[in-house]
Amino acid sequence: MPGKIVRYETHDLRFPTSLTGDGTDAMNTDCDYSSAYVSIYTDDGQVGHGMTFTIGRGNDIVCRAIEELSTRLLNKDPEEFFANMGKAWDYMCADPQLRWIGPEKGVIHIAAGAVNNALWDMFARARGKPVWKLVVDMSPEELVSATAFRYITDVLTPEQALAMLKEKEAGKKEREANVRELGYPAYITSAGWLAYPDDKVARLTKEAVGNGFTHFKMKVGADRAMDLRRGLLIRSIIDDPANLPPHLKDRNPETDPSLRGKNAGPTGAVLMVDANQVWDVPQAIEWMKELAPIKPWFIEEPTAPDDILGHAAIRKALRPHGIGVATGEHAHNRMVFKQLLQAEAIDVCQIDACRLAGVSEVLSVLLMAAKFGIPVCPHAGGVGLCEYVIHLSLIDYICISGTMERNVLEFATHLHEHFVYPCTMNSRGRYSIPVNPAEGYSIEMHKQSIAEYEFPNGSYWAGVAKEKK
Ligand SMILES: [Mg+2]
Repeated sequence: MPGKIVRYETHDLRFPTSLTGDGTDAMNTDCDYSSAYVSIYTDDGQVGHGMTFTIGRGNDIVCRAIEELSTRLLNKDPEEFFANMGKAWDYMCADPQLRWIGPEKGVIHIAAGAVNNALWDMFARARGKPVWKLVVDMSPEELVSATAFRYITDVLTPEQALAMLKEKEAGKKEREANVRELGYPAYITSAGWLAYPDDKVARLTKEAVGNGFTHFKMKVGADRAMDLRRGLLIRSIIDDPANLPPHLKDRNPETDPSLRGKNAGPTGAVLMVDANQVWDVPQAIEWMKELAPIKPWFIEEPTAPDDILGHAAIRKALRPHGIGVATGEHAHNRMVFKQLLQAEAIDVCQIDACRLAGVSEVLSVLLMAAKFGIPVCPHAGGVGLCEYVIHLSLIDYICISGTMERNVLEFATHLHEHFVYPCTMNSRGRYSIPVNPAEGYSIEMHKQSIAEYEFPNGSYWAGVAKEKK
């Protein structure tokens, strides 16, 4: 008898990051990084873990939506899902009543991200491979069948995707060996959270340079004078050759292909800025022109995430200033990415592993971005996101875009200790490759962390409530 999915459990986990200002930006000033976490179980001992990210209040609402979606998986044979993950994805999103509270956006869609990722985690564990390896070992046909294609075939059909994947087939082994040796390029966000004082920004930036990072991101949009001051402060550190580790001393930013079009400074350091949606379109253009002296590669989320043509207008206006546009962490679904690409609105595509509804939908965006020649630099500023996205960038490099030359994957330093298989960085400031055959999607959390940070009755939050009394 094949196993059946018989049970699930959800956990509303919240980490008190608001106490330290970790994760703060111009829009999100008071975040407790949170995880709406789900585990699904079969009657023959298999398990899959997934989560989606929120920043505090409302995490319980997402957990409730996860329960509704997980119920759809009960009494199903997981092997039937694994045989065609694209079909499984369609099934998961197609509840005729739940669909009304989306469709494919908001709470119900991020909940679908948690559930789809849990299914992929179970699939990878069942095959004894990390998720990225499971996917890169698929044939082009299998990968196409695992992808969500509904509503995107006007720009990419399954047949076209198959041809793209077949073209990249020959170099897969070589690229896998290459990235296993080098690691995947990364950038750091943790030095420039908005609520950090200047001396903390300076200290963390210096540390990051010493740790081999070459790309840095700073939050902007609350105060123009402060943005310029902090930007110049960061530039003064990252552009100073005396701060560089030995292996970066001889770089020539003029000829280095990884720095093409990135507004790099004299040592090859790249600075990105992120406004987290605070501006109207004209304000974004005006503000960013004033920040031109700090030479940003791109402005991330300059305006409302749904405003595709607004992003296109900002990109057009800033291009003469050498500044690009990036977005995606709040793009609800593959159709928004499709239009951002069609409208030539972005220089960099920032998928989110759990705002999109899991691996199957991410695959469709990776394929479209490759078709348009736009680099994918996933969003990872949040709990669990770094753990997820290394898998997605490896899939992108090894079998979809075939390049990691200009890509950088976001890295934030906090909360990794809660994961059983935390992501790690190598000495060159690059992501190490997840290699444990048991780690699935690397998103399983320690039981102790769940017991401590479950809201509101975990030991940490119960303690806080007691203090308040
Ligand atoms: Mg961002």
